[in-house]
Amino acid sequence: MSEKALPEHARQVNRSLILRTLFRCEAMSRADLARATGLTRVSVSRIVDDLGAEGLVRETGPSPEGRVGKPSTLIALNPDAYHVVSLDLSAYAELTGAIMNLDGDVVHTMTVPTRGARGTALLDKVCDLAAALVKRSTVRVLGVGIGSPGVVGADGVVREAVAFHWHDLDVAAAVSAIVPVPVHIANDANAAALAARTYGQPSAEDLALVRIGQGIGSGVIVGGMLVTGPRYTAGEIGHVLVEPGGEVCRCGRRGCLEVVAAVPYVRQRLADDPSSASEVLSRAGRALGEVMSPVVAALGLEQVVVSGPLDIVGGVFLDEMRAAIDLHSLAIVTDDLEVRVAVRGDDIVLLGGTALVIAEELGIR
Ligand SMILES: [Zn+2]
Repeated sequence: MSEKALPEHARQVNRSLILRTLFRCEAMSRADLARATGLTRVSVSRIVDDLGAEGLVRETGPSPEGRVGKPSTLIALNPDAYHVVSLDLSAYAELTGAIMNLDGDVVHTMTVPTRGARGTALLDKVCDLAAALVKRSTVRVLGVGIGSPGVVGADGVVREAVAFHWHDLDVAAAVSAIVPVPVHIANDANAAALAARTYGQPSAEDLALVRIGQGIGSGVIVGGMLVTGPRYTAGEIGHVLVEPGGEVCRCGRRGCLEVVAAVPYVRQRLADDPSSASEVLSRAGRALGEVMSPVVAALGLEQVVVSGPLDIVGGVFLDEMRAAIDLHSLAIVTDDLEVRVAVRGDDIVLLGGTALVIAEELGIR
C-alpha cells in the first residue's frame, strides 16, 4: 500500500463506521457519534460535513434533551440520498426488479416473464430489466444488486445455474456494460441472508437463512460476514441425506432434504392426500431441523430464519423444525436461539440485493 493510500483507506473505514452507526439508529448528535464510534469530535465533524455535502446525512433539528447551554444538532441518515436497483432471478417463470431506498422501502417494481428463455437470451432480459429500472429511477442510483439461483462467485461470475443453462457466465460484467453504476450479484439464498442481517428485526450477526422454494438453499452469516467457502457452495444444504432409501431426487440420489421439504414435493403430497397435511408438514420441518441442528451447534448461531410460502413454512413446519433442533442440541446451544419465519419473505431476495449494494458501496452491514 502506498503512503498516500493509507489515510484514504482510513477515511473510507471511518466514513463506513459513521454510516453504519447512523443506519442502526434514528438520529444522533456529533458528540454521541464520537462516543459510539470512538472517533474524535474533529474527525466526526469532518466526515459528517462530507456526508452532508453528498446528501447522505442531514440535520434533523436540535436534540430534545433539556441540557443547559446550546442544544446539539441531531444527524440522521437520508434513506433517499440514493436508490438501489435490485433484481430477483429466483422465480424461474419471471424476473422481478425493484427500485428501493437505502431503508429497503420499495419505490417501484417491475416484473418480466422469462417465457422459457435460457442462456444468453435470459441474460439479455436481465440486462434489459436492470437498464429499464436504472433509467426509471428519479433519484441517483447507488448500484444494481442481483440475487441469482446457482453457485455465484465473488467476482460476479455465475459458476453454475443449471436451470438457466448458465455456466461460468459473467453476469455482473454483462449488466455493468449497459448501466453506469456498480453491479453486485450473489446467490439468492445468500442475498436473503444479507437482508436478514441488515434489515432483520431484530438484526443478527450470526444467522442462517433457509429458502424453501423449488429447491432448498441457505445463506450463513458468521460475525456479520457471509460464509461462502472457497467454491462458493456454502449453504448448499438441499441434497443433504435425511431419509436413507427415500424418494428419488433430481440429483439422482435418494432421500435428500429437497424431496422431503422443497415446495413442489410438499405441494404434491398435500394434493394427493389433504388429510395428511399435518404429517407432511411435520416431516418436512423435522427434516430441516435435523439438518440445521449441527450447523447451529457448530457455529453458535443466534437465529435461524426460514423464507418460503407461509402456508407451508408457518405453523407446524416451524414448530417441528424448532423441536428437532432442540432435540439434537444441548440446551445451552439453543436456549437463546430464535427460529422464525422471514419478515417480508416475498421480496426478501430483492431486499438482499439492496443489502448487498449498500454493504459493498457504503460499508453498511
Ligand atoms: Zn438430491
